[in-house]
Order: sequence, then C-alpha cells, then structure tokens
Amino acid sequence: MSTTLTAPALAATDRCDRCNAQAYVRVVLPGGSDLLFCGHHWSRHEEALRPKALEVVDETHRLVESPAVSTDA
Ligand SMILES: [Zn+2]
Repeated sequence: MSTTLTAPALAATDRCDRCNAQAYVRVVLPGGSDLLFCGHHWSRHEEALRPKALEVVDETHRLVESPAVSTDA
C-alpha cells in the first residue's frame, strides 16, 4: 500500500518558518504548499493547523531523545 502524498522526512537543514530553528514538524496544506515548524512554534500553531492540514509529519519525539541545545532557563 503506497501513499499518494510522500513528504520526505525532516532533515537537519529544514528550518522553522517562524524562527529559523531546526524544524521537527512539516505541515502540508491544500494546494501543495508546506510549512515547517520547530517544536516550540508547532505547539503554538498545532491547534489551528491540524484541521486544515492534508498531512502532518511530526518528528517532535526526536526532541526528547536528543539533548537540548538551547538554554531554556
Ligand atoms: Zn520556530
């Protein structure tokens, strides 16, 4: 069973559209455009975007596995 819409997995070079941090979520919108979000901005926009999105590639679980880069103190 193949998927009609294949979004590639997120790479380290993919950047959040909002803040240019590494992106962990790709959102594909109707019309074919896609948005990239870091974990921070995805949590902000998830509620609004999920109902509209054709596809959501959520790799935020990788944030938990890898040590935090930014100091969030
Ligand atoms: Zn961001």
